[in-house]
Amino acid sequence: MNKKLSEKLTSRIAELQKQIAQIGPVMRGSIVKLASKCGNLNCRCAQGQKHQQFYFSVSKKGKTKLIFLGESKVQKARTYSDNYKAMVAILEEMTDINMQLLKNDRKIK
Ligand SMILES: [Zn+2]
Repeated sequence: MNKKLSEKLTSRIAELQKQIAQIGPVMRGSIVKLASKCGNLNCRCAQGQKHQQFYFSVSKKGKTKLIFLGESKVQKARTYSDNYKAMVAILEEMTDINMQLLKNDRKIK
């Protein structure tokens, strides 16, 4: 690898590290809308018109964890989840670059 490319990649790594530091809270998983009954027998949901409500879902070791969000927490959950995706994208790019650097740098033993 030529020196110029190596320097370019190294400075890209530094840039990505800065980006990681700026990412806010992260949360892996996704927002899902589920239909449910509230339990009130006089409610429309008892007649089959179930309530559509937002939940946050994440799978861990093959098990799905679910928490209730409601309308009020959806935006926050979406932000955390988007941050997670941004973080993963950065980590993937860093992985590619670092592999390239390690593979080609003959000074590293
Ligand atoms: Zn109901």
